[in-house]
Amino acid sequence: MSIPGPPDKPSRPTWRSPSAKHQRRIDLMVLFGSAFLIAAGGGWAVLFAWRGLWASVPMEIWLVITGIASIVLTRRQKTQEAGLLLMATLFITLCGICLVLDVPSANTHRSTHNLLPALGACAFLLLRGRHPVLRHGTSVAFLIAYVVFDATTFGLSTAYVWPADIRSLNAWGNDLFSIATLYMALMVIQADVTARNALEADLRNALIENQFVLHYQPQVNGKGQVIGAEALVRWKHPRHGMVPPGDFIPLAEQTGLILPLGEWVLKEACTQLAIWARHPDTAALKLAVNVSARQFRQPDFVALVLNIVERCGVDPHLLKLELTESMLVNDVDDIIAKMKGLKERGVSFSLDDFGTGFSSLSYLKRLPLDQLKIDQTFVRDLLTNPHDAAIASTVVSLGQNLGLEVIAEGVETEGQRAFLLSIGCLLFQGYFFSKPVPVAEFDAYVKRSHHAPLEPAAGG
Ligand code: C2E
Ligand code: CA
Ligand code: CA
Repeated sequence: MSIPGPPDKPSRPTWRSPSAKHQRRIDLMVLFGSAFLIAAGGGWAVLFAWRGLWASVPMEIWLVITGIASIVLTRRQKTQEAGLLLMATLFITLCGICLVLDVPSANTHRSTHNLLPALGACAFLLLRGRHPVLRHGTSVAFLIAYVVFDATTFGLSTAYVWPADIRSLNAWGNDLFSIATLYMALMVIQADVTARNALEADLRNALIENQFVLHYQPQVNGKGQVIGAEALVRWKHPRHGMVPPGDFIPLAEQTGLILPLGEWVLKEACTQLAIWARHPDTAALKLAVNVSARQFRQPDFVALVLNIVERCGVDPHLLKLELTESMLVNDVDDIIAKMKGLKERGVSFSLDDFGTGFSSLSYLKRLPLDQLKIDQTFVRDLLTNPHDAAIASTVVSLGQNLGLEVIAEGVETEGQRAFLLSIGCLLFQGYFFSKPVPVAEFDAYVKRSHHAPLEPAAGG
């Protein structure tokens, strides 16, 4: 028997998350910079060749090549790599020009360095999400270079200095490009702030108007029987359709809205557990709920969870909280105390996205965990990447040695399931069985699994 995994309701095509919109603006910025580089480099190359200033021509051709490479990279969705290429090339070229070709004299100022602050601002925008040392280091390098070239008349040689008319044309070009770039950077920042504010207001409203729903993704054992589910929140946006959590959870975390949202999720999940408890088919199902770091850090988190469990009248043994490795970095003692407080009452814990974050084995030993969840990035290429297979295998052995259950998420094919089973992983979750679905579809899935030994969804 084949159980098709009903797909998530797709978001309407009109919906583009703020991060997707931001990415589009950054793409446009890089494309604009690349096009400008090609036009300016090409123009200067022709002018220099015409004036017989051959020493500068290769540099301009190099700029044109960089511009083309950066457009190609951006079109292949490698915008950060394109931006890094642009920034590195421009930094080296502009510093070189300042030192050799645009050296100030008694009657002429240097102007090439005027581009540096605007490019520093662009680097800051482009490298969002990258390591802070890279992001801040790149921007600060541009700003320091600007200050040095502006405050000194230092130059390596005056033998190749451009003639005065070229330098005046260069000054016009640089200042115009610099102002246009700064203006564009400001527009991107403004658009980001506006989009973020609008989403935040929408989120607050969504909480009041109850626009969130939980979808349930089955967790199955080696025999294909459903043993539980993971609750995954979705936002039923009145205009944009079903919005996935990746588009609003990060903002909810930054703004603190994750606290009321997380509480709603817990209440909804426990209400569902109470409903399942009334039916023999679903009475033994465990429900896993994602808890964010900020939620878990609340001083009264333990009391909050126990209160909800009690008010819903559910068996705490059926509630499992999923924590991520990244939240275990700070204040581990407080985390352990809270976990113990909940565990005493029967609530269990799973360590989500295991292997992707900071994993100290000594912490792992101290944490009162029940389950490790192999992250889907290792499951995806399990059959083709020996490193991923080795990681999955190591997590399974680690779990066995520590007496923890191990579940694999993101299982999409029979091959992955069979391999995981062969290395001792006995629990699975993934599109191969079912996508996260509304509760009615989940219940139907469980029912079917009781009537026939479950076989996975056709086509995963
Ligand atoms: P997560 O906890 O790692 O959840 C697993 C994600 O993987 C889910 O995405 C699920 O739909 C997806 N997934 C499951 N099986 C497969 C598969 O076979 N292939 C692929 N490609 N993907 C699979 P979703 O629902 O979009 O959730 C994304 C993240 O949002 C979650 O990652 C979790 O970190 C967060 N999230 C969702 N609901 C909540 C919540 O109620 N509270 C909090 N704090 N975070 C939540
Ligand atoms: Ca999870
Ligand atoms: Ca996960």
